[in-house]
Amino acid sequence: MPIADAVFHCGYHAESSYGAASYLILRPSGNVLVDSPRFAPPLVKRLEELGGIRYLYLTHRDDVADHVKFHEHFGCDRLLHTDDMNSAIKAIEIPISGSEPVSLAEDLLIIPTPGHTKGHTVLLYAQRFLFTGDHLAWSQGLEQLIAFRRACWYSWSEQLKSMRSLTDYSFEWVLPGHGRRHHADAKTMHQQMQNCVSWMEQQ
Ligand SMILES: [Zn+2]
Repeated sequence: MPIADAVFHCGYHAESSYGAASYLILRPSGNVLVDSPRFAPPLVKRLEELGGIRYLYLTHRDDVADHVKFHEHFGCDRLLHTDDMNSAIKAIEIPISGSEPVSLAEDLLIIPTPGHTKGHTVLLYAQRFLFTGDHLAWSQGLEQLIAFRRACWYSWSEQLKSMRSLTDYSFEWVLPGHGRRHHADAKTMHQQMQNCVSWMEQQ
């Protein structure tokens, strides 16, 4: 299901990823699967038709689902921060470490955002699309961007710091694992990010 330009929502949410949404970025230099859906035959066939998978980027340890099957089938390189590795996922091709952003390609920037988990990261694509995992989402009830206070497994104060640092980046889309997606022009989004930080400070 297309979202905008070359970004798609995959469907086939995996129970082992707590039903998190996953996304596909179509790129001439290699497609990126963001978080792992179920390894479902119709989805796999569609991904094959779309040119396969170059990278399987994992925002954090909760949403890794069928990462082994995707790796074995498509030969994709998996990316995850070392602070989120555990027995279910450890021997991967591109481990991310430290607290500095990592440029994977000209249009792909991985930004560490500890908080929900210690090794949570988000992915900024083409300076427009931010894949936020369980770090940031839109709340329909509150009509604003939020973080999940009651589903913060590592540190709320670290998550607040991570959120502040994200206000330095320009983007137009927030594409989360859970919660609602959100789209606004970059200027509005920046204001909404600042509102989110202020809101978090009061939680
Ligand atoms: Zn999570």
